[in-house]
Amino acid sequence: MTSVKRPVYLDYHSTTPCDPRVVEAMLPCFTETFGNSSSRGHVFGRVAEELVEDARRRIAGLLGAQASEIIFTGGATESNNLAVTGAACARREAGDGNHVVSCVTEHKSVICPLERLEDEGFEVTMLPVDERGRIDLDVLSASLTENTILVTLMFASNEIGNIHPIAEVARRAHEVGAWVHTDAVQAIGKVPVNVNDLDVDMLSLSAHKFYGPKGIGALYRRESPRRVKLKPCIIGGGHERGVRSGTHNVPGIVGLATAFELAVQEREEESRRVAALRDRLESQLIEEIEGLVVNGDHEHRLPNNLSVSIPYVDGEALLLSLDDVAVSSGSACKSETAGTSHVIKALGREEDDGRGTIRFGLGRWTTEEEIDFAVGRVSETVNHLRALSTL
Ligand SMILES: *Cc1c(COP(=O)(O)O)cnc(C)c1O
Repeated sequence: MTSVKRPVYLDYHSTTPCDPRVVEAMLPCFTETFGNSSSRGHVFGRVAEELVEDARRRIAGLLGAQASEIIFTGGATESNNLAVTGAACARREAGDGNHVVSCVTEHKSVICPLERLEDEGFEVTMLPVDERGRIDLDVLSASLTENTILVTLMFASNEIGNIHPIAEVARRAHEVGAWVHTDAVQAIGKVPVNVNDLDVDMLSLSAHKFYGPKGIGALYRRESPRRVKLKPCIIGGGHERGVRSGTHNVPGIVGLATAFELAVQEREEESRRVAALRDRLESQLIEEIEGLVVNGDHEHRLPNNLSVSIPYVDGEALLLSLDDVAVSSGSACKSETAGTSHVIKALGREEDDGRGTIRFGLGRWTTEEEIDFAVGRVSETVNHLRALSTL
């Protein structure tokens, strides 16, 4: 146990360290191939442009897409904003309708744009989930009308790890002519992600969730058989087919493509290894902590996720006391203030039912020793806090 390097990082859903192989691929772009990819009048620009286009082809290939269907963005928050707002506004302008369907457990970067659409007169339906975070496909079908232009549902939850049945959702949404977007940030490198198998029209991803750099992401936007039109959010020089202006982040784009390739190449083996560690973490915690509840859908869940709720413990106090294990209470993406996350509440929990929730996110460099150390520290801390509260 003493051999474990502290603090132990178990928050891989919020971000991941860059893989050294990704950094290596990026480095020349800072100092040598630093050109502006739009400056086609000279070789510096043309070299940078070729790096961007090569990355675009590689990313498209990994998703089963065409290169022209990949739009580079500043991360998944931007991809989600562009997909949701851009598609909804383009379709309303075309007179296709004004109804959008989503789900209460989405990431804030989907929920907040939806709230703004609602303020602007769109009709928005937020599907509920059951106590395990699952949507009901019949409720989805009942919500779809001729007026529905977009369905947006995350592929896998960043908090409780649920994997939603996206292909089936897409099949039903397409029956009424709606477009389908999925936030696949947490799925890349953990489960197979192919835009044709899923039959989605848009898909968001972010490099820093799979061992690439922060501040770079992509949006897949389908061109056939349905042609998705987007009203741009960021306008200017007309980059990315006019959908997302701004000078290309060439090192980031090269890093994204490299990280994505590694994530796909190593997915099966890594997922198997990490799932075994997660199962070890889960069974040991259940054994050590009385009343512990495992959140989410046990059948359709990310291999690297474990979300647990612990009765008679204050979640904030627990996190603050756990200073040598880096975990999270829920979503880090929304510099969350104290209180139960919107996802845990959606499972039917009351704000103050006296349970603390911890999300563990395992990853590429998690070891068995780290898991055993975390179990020890978490159970020790829980027992200590419980003893204090009964004093
Ligand atoms: C992290 C995350 C995002 C936001 O991605 P950024 O690139 O950090 O903006 C969106 N959706 C999910 C599910 C995430 O986990």
